[in-house]
Amino acid sequence: MNEANQSALREGKTDRSPRILVVEDETSLATLLVYNLESEGYDVEHVENGDEAELRIAESPPDLVILDWMLPGVSGLEICRRLRTRDAALDMPIIMLTARGEEGERVRGLSVGADDYVVKPFSTPELMARVRALLRRARPERVASKLVLGDIDLDRATRRVRRSGREIHLGPTEFRLLEYFMEKPGRVFTRAQLLDSVWGMSAEIDERTVDVHVGRLRKALIRGREKDPIRTVRGSGYSFDETFGRD
Ligand code: CA
Repeated sequence: MNEANQSALREGKTDRSPRILVVEDETSLATLLVYNLESEGYDVEHVENGDEAELRIAESPPDLVILDWMLPGVSGLEICRRLRTRDAALDMPIIMLTARGEEGERVRGLSVGADDYVVKPFSTPELMARVRALLRRARPERVASKLVLGDIDLDRATRRVRRSGREIHLGPTEFRLLEYFMEKPGRVFTRAQLLDSVWGMSAEIDERTVDVHVGRLRKALIRGREKDPIRTVRGSGYSFDETFGRD
C-alpha cells in the first residue's frame, strides 16, 4: 500500500473505494498485484502471512480478499475456512491463488468457502476482471430484487420463482434455500452453514433436514430432462452449479 492510502485509511476516508487485502508471501507477485489493483482505483493492503491477514481482517474487514494458498504459517485454505465461520466475513468475497499442479484442490478450496480460484501464473487482466465481477456480485445482488441464473429466475419482491417461464411453487424454506444458493453460485455450503443461514442460528435441527429440503427443492425445480441446478458435493455439502445455464 502506498503512503497516501495508508494515511487515508488512518484518517478514515469517507468517499471510499473498495478495499482489497492481498495475502501473498512472494514479494514480486505481491508488488505486481498491489500496483495493478491500485491502478484500478482500489485501496490495497498487503500482508505476507496468515496471522497478519487474520489480524487485519478482524480489525477492519476489507471488501475482498486475494488469498495465496501456500503461505508460511497458517495456510490460505485454513484462513479461508476460519473466515467463513465468522459472521463478519461470511459474505466477504475471497479469491484464492494457487500454484500450477494444485488445481486438483479446487473443490477443497471452494468447499471451504472461496468464491473464485486463480492458478499461477495468471494473466493480470483476467484477475482484475474477476475482482470486478466478485465485487459487483457481492453487493448489488443483495439489494437487487431479481436473481436470474440460466432459465431460473427468483423475484424477492413477489417471492415468485419461475423456470423457463413456468411458475415454480416452493415452500418458504425451499424459497430461502434457493435464494441463498443463487446469491453465490459455485460456492459450496456445508449442511451446518445452510442450517445457520437458512433456518437461523437458533435452529436445533438435524443436518439431514437439509437433505430433505434440498430434495424437495430439486423436485419442484426439475421437470422431465431439465438440468439439476443444485450440485451435491460429496463430503462437503451443496452448491448452485456455477456452470448452470452456460451451456
Ligand atoms: Ca506463496
